[in-house]
Amino acid sequence: MIQDPQAGFGKCSMCRRKIELGQKYFRCSVTACNTGRVKLLFCTVACWDAHLPTARHRNAAAVEDVAKRE
Ligand SMILES: [Zn+2]
Ligand SMILES: [Zn+2]
Repeated sequence: MIQDPQAGFGKCSMCRRKIELGQKYFRCSVTACNTGRVKLLFCTVACWDAHLPTARHRNAAAVEDVAKRE
């Protein structure tokens, strides 16, 4: 995934909506979804929910976070 510095924090992994810095977003509690090349971000719980069937997690939760620079 190419990170454009003008693109804010990132894009929702499901609907591709832009996530701005300082905005609330959701990520997946499963470690594999937060490490590696592709970090999954979700703009709403509904988008995280849509991720579940594709990821086939046994136990997962949506983790609320605020977009900020690391
Ligand atoms: Zn979304
Ligand atoms: Zn996940």
